Amino acid sequence: MQIYNTLKKRKEEFVPIEEGKVKMYVCGPTVYNLIHIGNARPMMVFDTVRRYMEYKGYEVNYVSNFTDVDDKIIKAANEEGVDPSVISERYIAECKKDMESLNVKAATTHPKATEEIDGMLDMIQTLIDKGYAYVAKDGTVYYSTRKFKDYGKLSHKNLDDLQGGMRSLLVSGEDQKEDPLDFVLWKPKKEGEPFWVSPWCEGRPGWHIECSVMSRKYLGEEIDIHAGGEDLIFPHHENEIAQSEAANGKPFAKYWMHNAFLNIDNKKMSKSLGNFFTVRDIIEKYDPQVLRFFMLSAHYRSQLNFSADLMEAAKNSLDRILTAADRARDFAAKATGEELTDAEKAMLEESKQYRAKFEEAMDDDFNTADAIAAVFELVKFMNTNITEETSLAFDAVLIEELNGLCDILGIKTERKAELLDADIEKLIEERQAARKEKNFARADEIRNELLAKGIVLEDTREGVKWKRA
Ligand code: AMP
Ligand code: ZN
Repeated sequence: MQIYNTLKKRKEEFVPIEEGKVKMYVCGPTVYNLIHIGNARPMMVFDTVRRYMEYKGYEVNYVSNFTDVDDKIIKAANEEGVDPSVISERYIAECKKDMESLNVKAATTHPKATEEIDGMLDMIQTLIDKGYAYVAKDGTVYYSTRKFKDYGKLSHKNLDDLQGGMRSLLVSGEDQKEDPLDFVLWKPKKEGEPFWVSPWCEGRPGWHIECSVMSRKYLGEEIDIHAGGEDLIFPHHENEIAQSEAANGKPFAKYWMHNAFLNIDNKKMSKSLGNFFTVRDIIEKYDPQVLRFFMLSAHYRSQLNFSADLMEAAKNSLDRILTAADRARDFAAKATGEELTDAEKAMLEESKQYRAKFEEAMDDDFNTADAIAAVFELVKFMNTNITEETSLAFDAVLIEELNGLCDILGIKTERKAELLDADIEKLIEERQAARKEKNFARADEIRNELLAKGIVLEDTREGVKWKRA
């Protein structure tokens, strides 16, 4: 399996640190608002990476944080007149709902920055002790960037170029850095802000230290994959490397993976530009699977432009897969022959090429675009070869094959039969009528049918009540 490693600027064979295991950290969102579909791109992309790794037999320890202390969270809290934790908890819950809609698996651990302050104090102290960090007069702790000899190795920038860009910051005199390249590890509180007691001042951590600490705590000092959007390469990931490698005295992550941007009108979708759609906006109009399918239809390192036309195209493409699955299931339900014929065995042998193509694409730095093309070849094969005559065994193998490949992409081949409230009421009435006629078998059948769709019935004195499970 080849992975494009930002650190090396080329694809490399994936060799895990520990055989059969993958330790993977994905930088998560700052939670002050609903996530937009740009934020959702890394979630879906790296969830697909994880699924493929698991398919290959790796045990994946997947850690993705929530940044729950930040200027923007504090600002939102002040505007609403609530504690910042109210804002962050609300949007963590909303983010998890969106992830579930998009079939993004929950991480092994979703640490929150505010619950990991002790680890941050510890790492910052180590950096001070080792001479990589210093405390300014007001208690701010800075990382001494020039002390870390490899600084710039991820973003492939050299210190002097960086320095040029940063000089203006120092001139502004708004901080007490010894060098414009230095960055904050710990900063003093301002009035009304959340803070923690530290040896340097009452304050809060800088953003970069969070990830170094959470990654070490849940995955260890050396990890296989560290990932996020490409805007994180510099300075966030560069700074994480400087912190972790200086503190631990070991290489931090072996492979650095970065997704390209989701754009709109060829500009990065972002909260600050205001040119965004939330995941919620989109899934009001489309099955969330369409969004996932749309995202995976491009390679993760290619920019992807969002448009209504492309979403329609994704919807139609996905529909071709779901229709093929429906059709195959219909034939399977009616099939008579249980055993594979020799001709069918030969055809199944031929159909193995699609999985091989799928794997070849995914092994090549997770080329989901080509993997989807292989799925379409399988779909075509199924549409041509599954017929009234084919055996149940034959149909079933191909359905399984399609389900298996789609599952790696996080796509379900069953259409979600969302029951509308009106449909539920109608079924409940029908059940009441069946009971009146003492047709308890039919009444139970309706109850079970509803239950299978997540609707729980409760017989009360006032009549039948229902709720979604
Ligand atoms: P943020 O909440 O801005 O820190 O972003 C969370 C994650 O989403 C990071 O990995 C970002 O790189 C990523 N991200 C933000 N905007 C986009 C975008 N338009 N396209 C792709 N990834 C993005
Ligand atoms: Zn991070």
